[in-house]
Amino acid sequence: MDWLLEELGLAWQQVSRQALLNDIIQAVRNTPILDEVLQTTVNQVDVLLKVSHCLIARPNTHNDMVVRYVSQTADKSESLIGSYCPFYRYYHDILALGKPVVLSSIDETLPPELLCQAHEDNIRALMIVPLMYQNSYIGGITLVQCNCLQKWTDSDVEFIQTLADHCAIAIYQAELHQQLQTQLAERQQVEEALRQSEARYRAIVEDQTELICRFKPDGTITFVNDAYCRYFNKQRSELIGQTFLPTMPSHDRALITKNFRSLSQEHPTNTYEHRILLPSGEIRWQQWSDRALFDEQGNFIECQAVGRDITQLKQAEDDIRHALEKEKEASELQSSFVSLVSHEFRTPLTIIQTSAELLEHYNHMWSEEKKQKHFTRIQTSVSRMTHLLEDVLTIGKAEAGKLKFEPSPVDLVAFCQDLVENLRMSAVSGHALAFGEQGGIAAKHRDRAINFAIQGNCTDAKMDEKLLGHILTNLLSNAMKYSPKGGTIRFDLISTSDSAVFRIQDTGIGIPVQDLDKLFESFRRASNVGTIPGTGLGLAIVKKCVDLHRGKIAVESELGVGTTFTVTLPLDACA
Ligand code: ADP
Repeated sequence: MDWLLEELGLAWQQVSRQALLNDIIQAVRNTPILDEVLQTTVNQVDVLLKVSHCLIARPNTHNDMVVRYVSQTADKSESLIGSYCPFYRYYHDILALGKPVVLSSIDETLPPELLCQAHEDNIRALMIVPLMYQNSYIGGITLVQCNCLQKWTDSDVEFIQTLADHCAIAIYQAELHQQLQTQLAERQQVEEALRQSEARYRAIVEDQTELICRFKPDGTITFVNDAYCRYFNKQRSELIGQTFLPTMPSHDRALITKNFRSLSQEHPTNTYEHRILLPSGEIRWQQWSDRALFDEQGNFIECQAVGRDITQLKQAEDDIRHALEKEKEASELQSSFVSLVSHEFRTPLTIIQTSAELLEHYNHMWSEEKKQKHFTRIQTSVSRMTHLLEDVLTIGKAEAGKLKFEPSPVDLVAFCQDLVENLRMSAVSGHALAFGEQGGIAAKHRDRAINFAIQGNCTDAKMDEKLLGHILTNLLSNAMKYSPKGGTIRFDLISTSDSAVFRIQDTGIGIPVQDLDKLFESFRRASNVGTIPGTGLGLAIVKKCVDLHRGKIAVESELGVGTTFTVTLPLDACA
């Protein structure tokens, strides 16, 4: 009967232990919370094996085994947590090999300090089974019997060892889980940092006034920033995945293609400027810096381009270049003025001196006619110098804005007739009478006829007679000066309701096209004047006088055929 009871007891014990093992296995599988699994284990072992308490120790940071879990039935179980287990240190070498320590009784074979500790804690029997995972010693399960000795059976030891294996797995899994959680958290942090950094860079890229885009080698756009969309007035969706090149002159397109093709791993960047044609027809300048991106095999995978509108910059450059050219021209003009004026003065002065000396020496020998000839030469030279001086003074005043404009009623017909008559007279008499140098010129070119014709009623105008005199005298004497012998000059005065048109047409040497636009600047002379004397001041004065009348001047000319100057002045410049 006893043996039956014993058999039944053993069977029951077997079932209970298996049940606990199953519970633990389930818990390990399903409960990610390690504390819960291990606490349940110590509690149940305590009950099942009827020990005073069961505990699990784990190494602290100094690798000392300290109590982490104590069965809740134990006295002062709370106070044991965190306490150091001297038995673990003493039996460390055995435990580290994965072998259990089984003490059915605490006896005198133990070293005194352990014995003392055991007495203090009232320990009578002890079993420690190490927790091993893949040959690593990661803790232990301790069973303590306080009130009586305990004969630990092989089956007890085996059971606790199996339990220890599952606990070790649970610990390992939990650590793995913890590691994963930490890694996950770290990754999330990294991802968040990346996201923030990406957002920051995106904001920088988007807030740029620079145009930024990326495109594949075949030109397909993969990225554009806001500035790019705004500049080309396009939606992002119209650009991404498309090829897009703005309209531009073919030369500029060829330049872009050439630059793009020159990109290589050795020279991955280049910068160039080109023009584009906006839909409004406006031409704008852009500057682009391209950077080619290559993969690890060295294949050209993408190009990143940063561009800006440099139209204003180009404009400023042009302005500076023009200003420099103007300055250069001005200094050239200044030096040409000095040589021109000194030459123009020296020639009449030499004539005056020579004629005066000849008259002094040969006065008594010469006929009246010969003397007169030299007097005329002196007078002509003086008038030429006077006129030159007048011209220099007039242009000086005009450029300083000091030329006076004093309009008064003028009978244009009578005014022009007088002017033509004076020119004719001076031509006939051979003297510089009313128009100084111009008269001289008229005299010199006495074989050129001026045909004056009137259209409309031009008797009632309000103009500055002096300035009008400058305009017409200069144009008419130029027409004579630059015309061949026997040439005819047409002078038309045409009046409309509100303006008077003075047209002076000659059949002279004409003006080369390239000289036409600068003709009204001081000291400008056309390249075909040859030895015909002049200062290049007359037309500049004409232009200033026309401007003061708020009028217009136009010139048409054909080389070797002739030139027509047309001056249009309002009948009343003050109105
Ligand atoms: P210039 O004293 O040299 O005649 P202007 O200022 O009167 O100076 O004229 C400027 C230049 O314009 C002349 O040097 C000449 O080259 C050209 N020009 C002016 N009028 C005529 C014309 N009727 N026929 C041909 N060239 C002319």
